[in-house]
Amino acid sequence: MQARLDDERAIRLALDRNEFRLSYQPIVALADRAIIGAEALVRWERPDRGLVGPGTFVPLAEETGLIVPLGEWVLVEACEQLRRWQEATGDRHLSMSVNVAARQVTAGELGAVVDRVLDCTGIDPRTLTLEVTESTLMENLDQSKRILSELTRAGVRIAIDDFGTGYSSLSYLKSLPIATLKVDRSFIVNLAGDPYDSAIVRAVATIAHALNLRVVSEGVETADQAYEALEHGCDWAQGYYFARPMAAEELLIWSVPASGST
Ligand code: C2E
Ligand code: MG
Ligand code: MG
Repeated sequence: MQARLDDERAIRLALDRNEFRLSYQPIVALADRAIIGAEALVRWERPDRGLVGPGTFVPLAEETGLIVPLGEWVLVEACEQLRRWQEATGDRHLSMSVNVAARQVTAGELGAVVDRVLDCTGIDPRTLTLEVTESTLMENLDQSKRILSELTRAGVRIAIDDFGTGYSSLSYLKSLPIATLKVDRSFIVNLAGDPYDSAIVRAVATIAHALNLRVVSEGVETADQAYEALEHGCDWAQGYYFARPMAAEELLIWSVPASGST
């Protein structure tokens, strides 16, 4: 109990002291490796422990509700970075994906926060993607539907993260304005060797394309996996094979040759 309180206090302090950082992982088109955008991934630069990943603090931030202010910081920072990135590359189509936790949807301020961020940064709403998981949607389907529909009316895109690992209800695919399915890494890792994974990914891509959605394969680590993901109908990919999550300045350097070569 005491340790939890200490951790909670530490997260609060970290917000005040501006200790959170974003890493950006490129998302590329499988067919030609053109860069589509990036996903913003939060890290905590702890003065005593160095840079720590979200697995160590996002769950507690979700439980305590601190994910609401933290998530807002992430949205603002990611959108500002997107604007700088689009300006530096001259590519206004580059997109930024931001993870959104269930608490951010149920807190009811997500729409207002996104509106404000879009207003301040002036980015095209269609270049912002919010990533939600299936469990986030199912936690309060009616509210999610209402809030996410409002956001998509403004142009923002919605992606389903870790698709296939949660409560995979196909009914929300028709009732929610979803643009992208991100197929969980667990289905990609052995795509060539496992006939079940192979059948599942192919079927997901078929359904997605019939509904006019894009399919992203997550966690692509090898050339074989990239090849198989494309063979199985995935459009885009993200993973260590293409690039690891990186700092904003590295992202710029990484993406300039790709966008400058056309
Ligand atoms: P996610 O949204 O599914 O993000 C993908 C995770 O997979 C990231 O881990 C990324 O670094 C990792 N990854 C990417 N490519 C590969 C690969 O080729 N192999 C392997 N093994 N892993 C790969 P990370 O950064 O530790 O984030 C973990 C999770 O924490 C995220 O999963 C997301 O659910 C959550 N998260 C991260 N940032 C935020 C945030 O700003 N807000 C919220 N609510 N959650 C966040
Ligand atoms: Mg994600
Ligand atoms: Mg994921």
